[in-house]
Amino acid sequence: RDAVSPEADVEEHQIEGALRPKNLDEFVGQHRVREQLSLVLHSAQRRNRAPDHILMSGGPGLGKTTLAMIIAAELGAPLRITSGPAIERSGDLAAVLSTLQEGEVLFLDEIHRMARPAEEMLYVAMEDFRVDVVVGKGPGATAIPLDIAPFTLVGATTRAGMLPAPLRDRFGFTAHMDFYEPAELEQILHRSAGLLGAPMEAEAAREIAGRSRGTPRIANRLLRRVRDYAEVRGDGRLTLGNAHAALELYEVDALGLDRLDRAILDVLMNRFRGGPVGLSTLAVSVGEEAETVETVAEPFLVRSGFLARTPRGRVATPMAWAHMGLTPPPDAAF
Ligand code: ATP
Repeated sequence: RDAVSPEADVEEHQIEGALRPKNLDEFVGQHRVREQLSLVLHSAQRRNRAPDHILMSGGPGLGKTTLAMIIAAELGAPLRITSGPAIERSGDLAAVLSTLQEGEVLFLDEIHRMARPAEEMLYVAMEDFRVDVVVGKGPGATAIPLDIAPFTLVGATTRAGMLPAPLRDRFGFTAHMDFYEPAELEQILHRSAGLLGAPMEAEAAREIAGRSRGTPRIANRLLRRVRDYAEVRGDGRLTLGNAHAALELYEVDALGLDRLDRAILDVLMNRFRGGPVGLSTLAVSVGEEAETVETVAEPFLVRSGFLARTPRGRVATPMAWAHMGLTPPPDAAF
């Protein structure tokens, strides 16, 4: 179901590199975040100091990595990228922190998944630009304080609420990344198409934007699928016709639902009269793991108003019935 997944694998991350905006002016949407960030960066530059640590919260594919790169570029500072899961022991973090250059931007993706002992080390580093390196073991162990270069931490997390308060409090600024409006996604698509050397009809951009679930990564991915289709099966032009045909081939419907999303709604309505039905029953009925249904399909279905989670189970909304072209029974639970 990778056509509309907000996550990217290593290969896609590399492909995405070419499409990343390089400065704040090129970064589309997120007006409030852009304005706030621009202020933070400019005031730090005026005072000739490293800016406060910055936390970015928001789902995958909304531009957190891109923004971290832009922050470093705007500051004219080097950028180091690592992630929470890569930091399994505090020693891993000490190795990164102790080799930072003055003013360097450290991007720590998925910061909520860092090992606990490393978290404590990070608190001290963020506040005092110091790491305490522990030498020896047991009662004889001593902590040797080591000064590190002043740096700016840019942390990214899917949910800021999941961070322990002491960590959250050490960020001077939190940027909340929202889903994008269709018009913003259209703008991103035109820009990307230009960079791929394949200009696109306005109607095609509108069509792809409407199916991209508010997420630039998905928009860019669908664009690449449409381009491939246009090159191999079509006349090479990014027209509405080619966009329609390609997206139909990949089973991404007019509102961005894919095969699994539709299977869930289909089972919910046709077998369970619209619910309520429990997660595990629903998952078995579509032949998926409960976790897949809950973490992969449900967030979008709930966010876009197709599915409601109630204490008694999952319920299809009137919008879902309408989208699937079905009439709810008179006693349907909404
Ligand atoms: P993850 O945490 O899963 O890596 P992310 O939030 O860091 O996701 P990015 O890798 O920054 O997301 O963005 C994904 C793709 O979307 C990139 O190709 C990037 O160029 C594009 N993109 C994201 N935001 C914007 C934007 N505001 N304007 C233009 N392109 C964008």
